[in-house]
Amino acid sequence: MALASQPESLTLAVMSRASAGPEIQRMIDLIARLPGLGPRSARRAALFLLKRQDALLRPMAEALADAADKIEQCQTCGNYDTLQPCAVCQATGRDDGLICVVEDVPDLWALERASVFRGRYHVLGGVMSALDGVGPEDLTIGLLIDRIKAGGVREVILALNATVDGQTTAHYIAERLEGLGVEVTRLAHGVPVGGELDHLDDGTLATALRSRRGV
Ligand code: ZN
Repeated sequence: MALASQPESLTLAVMSRASAGPEIQRMIDLIARLPGLGPRSARRAALFLLKRQDALLRPMAEALADAADKIEQCQTCGNYDTLQPCAVCQATGRDDGLICVVEDVPDLWALERASVFRGRYHVLGGVMSALDGVGPEDLTIGLLIDRIKAGGVREVILALNATVDGQTTAHYIAERLEGLGVEVTRLAHGVPVGGELDHLDDGTLATALRSRRGV
């Protein structure tokens, strides 16, 4: 392939002058919508994929098509899976009396990777943020309350990030759960201030969960 033999910077410069065909441009525009990627890194990523058609681009396209067809959000907990409800919600041998509330799906994955929690989950879909205009009604707090009212829940663990927004949200949820007859706890030691669950090692996460305390 002629492109591959050119210096990458030159190729990128050519592509950035809108010389890419509509198919490539569409690819670049879509990649640029991913978090953390701007147009320049999207062009770089597109080129990287195009140079690896068989090794990467085609398997990725198939994986994405597969995901689009088969994976959906669990209507009970908010996890992503091919099953509805998800495998975690369906699994026998997990404690229905414990619900661990997390900010987003990667936090659920982090706790599952650490294998320290054997209850059920509830994914909020974000945290309250005045800056980003996210209010409690934008999160799945209503669904959480419905789950608790359905009965059988003893304890709700607020495993939210130790950020200002995470803790504000935890405080708000704790207040909303008052009077529902559940114990509300939150992660304690080990979560550094400003820390995000997804970035903690398994041991720290396990300690934080074990030493949770009442709100
Ligand atoms: Zn689920």
